[in-house]
Amino acid sequence: MGKGTGYRAQGSGYRVQGLSLRPVPCILCRNTLPLQMIINAEGDRVMSDLRVISGKVEDASATTAANGDNSIPRGEETRIIASIAEHMAAVMRELNLDLEDPNYAETPERIAKMYLEMFHGLREGAEPKITTFPNDEGYHHMVIEKEIPFYSMCAHHFVPFYGHAHIAYIPESTIVGLSKLPRILEFYAKRPQLQERLTEQVAEFLWSSLEPKGVMVVIEARHLCVEMRGVKKAGALTTTSALRGCFADHMVREGFLALLSRQAAW
Ligand SMILES: [Zn+2]
Repeated sequence: MGKGTGYRAQGSGYRVQGLSLRPVPCILCRNTLPLQMIINAEGDRVMSDLRVISGKVEDASATTAANGDNSIPRGEETRIIASIAEHMAAVMRELNLDLEDPNYAETPERIAKMYLEMFHGLREGAEPKITTFPNDEGYHHMVIEKEIPFYSMCAHHFVPFYGHAHIAYIPESTIVGLSKLPRILEFYAKRPQLQERLTEQVAEFLWSSLEPKGVMVVIEARHLCVEMRGVKKAGALTTTSALRGCFADHMVREGFLALLSRQAAW
């Protein structure tokens, strides 16, 4: 990721030691989140996001001292949260909201923590590390992952847009674990986004990291900035698509779209 795209210039995650399958609360939002990534015992693998799996998360300052620049100093995290919260409180005061009200009292900080969670795809080093496998079977047909749900935030209004992505690729010499496709989508969704750009970024990531014969991504989404405000078109669905390689071929593309419209048999 280029400089200036993230809210953090350096640092890429929490260092975690040991292996454990016990989900523990997210450091920032305190919610217990689904298992996301296993960190090896050497601790030299960095978390791809804020979801912490191990039973032990090192103190961030100790981590920084011991392991160089691979971690986020906790003090920096705290500073960002405090700064966002301060600005959020100013917005609320402009709206004549009573910050003494128990319902609002912790809202600025809650929003700050939520932003860090929802925008964690901006973090330097948060890119999914995808493991590829040799295509030993010589499979050269379409691999499709349909109806992958996602939630993102519209870059123009900072309100959600959400829906489903359908991702297809035709392998060349490498294949990718299917669970990685949702993770790639999520990584790019967790930032202020445009649906068009999200679609392109997922396609480009697969295109450049897998070097397949072709890749195509279709995203269908509802935008709350369209439904709640402005033209107020409830239920409107926006569809975008991006393709690379052999999906430029009409027949290949039609094959994908035909499979997309097929209902599952169970
Ligand atoms: Zn919008």
